[in-house]
Amino acid sequence: MADLPPPFVGQRHVVEYFARLGPERLSQAYLLHGPRGTGKLTFARMLAWTLNCERPTSFPLGFCGVCGPCVRGLNGSSGDILEIDVEFIQATASTERKTDKLGMDQVRAIIERMQLKSFEGGRPICIIPGFDTITTEFVPNVLLKQIEEPGPQKLFLLTVEREDAVLPTIRSRCTSIRFDRLTESDITRQLTAYYGIADEQATTFARRSLGSLGDALAEREGATSDIREAARSWVLACLTRPDRLPEMVDFGKDAPREVLDETLRQARITARDVMVRSISGDDALFDIAQRERYARAQSAMGESATVRTAKALGFIDEAILMAHDTYAAPATIYGWLQVQLRSLAAS
Ligand SMILES: [Zn+2]
Repeated sequence: MADLPPPFVGQRHVVEYFARLGPERLSQAYLLHGPRGTGKLTFARMLAWTLNCERPTSFPLGFCGVCGPCVRGLNGSSGDILEIDVEFIQATASTERKTDKLGMDQVRAIIERMQLKSFEGGRPICIIPGFDTITTEFVPNVLLKQIEEPGPQKLFLLTVEREDAVLPTIRSRCTSIRFDRLTESDITRQLTAYYGIADEQATTFARRSLGSLGDALAEREGATSDIREAARSWVLACLTRPDRLPEMVDFGKDAPREVLDETLRQARITARDVMVRSISGDDALFDIAQRERYARAQSAMGESATVRTAKALGFIDEAILMAHDTYAAPATIYGWLQVQLRSLAAS
């Protein structure tokens, strides 16, 4: 089972456009463009889930959420839906001179992947969020041919904030779809109905977000910065002194799922960053502001830094899978992860 995301909000003209078009008449590539936080990526994912759903109730957003392809899509483990990690491309691109191959390898992987037939009998779909933030030219150039003629049933969904930042050669091969800023009332309603935010605060967030649900949610996340910092310190303590039981973050017995998700997400970023730093230095860090703490952790681990953090990353990934795929209580998953991380003392 997977948790259903909140329903898509706003962009009625986009939803209506696709509804009129229907699933059979889609073009091979769409460029979803508009301000950040207005639902471009959410729409792309939901469209992809709906296209691969066994029992969709409507188009373009009527995925059932319970069939096999939907559950795998929601968990991010669909064999047919490939979402490109642009942070990864960026991270590797910033060290491009040293490791020219990496970004290139991922592009080749996309192409090989899209040339294959469907893994699960569905429709192969490639989602590339933040396509305009890919600064290296070779990425769009290599993708051109694929986007032009991806083959029957295949679909590319690119999201960008600025349409004019995309190479004309790519733009001309895509159908452009404009996403508008959301209305204040749409954002307020979404925040109160699905994110448990009180009316008054939701209105404030909505007003300040200037039509970006993403920004409103980020502001609410400011409230979760404590959780992120706790997760970060916890992982760093586990990595550097696994022989001692690091102070367990006080998640509480009834910690909600969102706290678990946020903690594991941050734990993953931290472990990943320490590992990346031990391999290739500061250039590829996601969270550059933490580099001095990473450096301290790395020197505390000495030669075992890479191996130890790689193992930690594996444990955290397992915990993330447990959190997605089981009904285990958050406290159980934290406890399990704590035990695994302590075993790193032997490495
Ligand atoms: Zn379904």
